[in-house]
Amino acid sequence: MKLAILFFTLTFFGASFSVFGQKTPRLIAVTIDDLPVVSTRRDLKNRQEITRKLLAHITKAKIPAIGFVNENKLYADEKRDEAQIDLLRAWLDAKLELGNHTFSHVNIANVSLEKYKEEILKGELVTKELLAAKRMKPRYFRHPFLWTGLNLETKSELGKFLGEHDYTIAPVTIDNADWIFARAYDNAFDKGDLELMKRIGAAYVPYMEAKMDYWERQSVKLFGREIRQILLLHANFINSDYMDDLAKMLKKRSYKFVSLDEALKDEAYQLPDNFVRRNGISWLHRWALDKGRENVLPDEPKTPEFVMKAAGVESE
Ligand SMILES: [Zn+2]
Repeated sequence: MKLAILFFTLTFFGASFSVFGQKTPRLIAVTIDDLPVVSTRRDLKNRQEITRKLLAHITKAKIPAIGFVNENKLYADEKRDEAQIDLLRAWLDAKLELGNHTFSHVNIANVSLEKYKEEILKGELVTKELLAAKRMKPRYFRHPFLWTGLNLETKSELGKFLGEHDYTIAPVTIDNADWIFARAYDNAFDKGDLELMKRIGAAYVPYMEAKMDYWERQSVKLFGREIRQILLLHANFINSDYMDDLAKMLKKRSYKFVSLDEALKDEAYQLPDNFVRRNGISWLHRWALDKGRENVLPDEPKTPEFVMKAAGVESE
């Protein structure tokens, strides 16, 4: 009997190794932007529903996720809106962390550095207060649009400012267009087109799986191994419906969910980010471009045409 169990275990692990070619589980941190919610369904009831569903999936899959907040969504007529702030309290009650994503989701290319710094400070007031009640402090900053600055001087000065305020930059490796799928899904919902919603939803998880495969290969191309990945998602309607399926897909690919802290312990993140172009891209591509364009894998999966059309988005 003992032998039989041992044999089964070995076979099981043997299979899982040979299928994925990895000796240890793959590790991934899940980061969720634009809290409390980003959707055309802006009224409180819908925001509550999206938050409740999203957090139920995250809790069920035991994902130690971090959410990045735009605090401008917490005010109504310039007054604090406690009902909106309760949405963030729900994240903390689910034992998740919150980080800073600027007050109003500004692009660093469109404002002065002074204004950008103001946006960061204005964007931490409520979060700081909520975290303090849990004996925590905001620790991570995520650049809106992943635009990090158009020259190295700006980046360096911002880096200094963030350091002085105890922030660490939260990079992204698994970049994707969940925001385009989300817009398409919202639009289909707003038109009452349930068939289209289903089609978009059915295409979403396979698209994300193709992206995972791409970034895993891009990681091997650069580092000769798969680094601890950092996935970017948004607090949107489609994820509130499909987060469960996304988590299942990741588990099927042998991923174990870790906190952003744990992911950043991978030495890959010691590499500098020297990217200064007018774009917001994965850190894997930033590092690849530093080594020479030939290091960028060419076959990055694209968002299906019908999703682009339903979203009313011209290019990714
Ligand atoms: Zn964002």
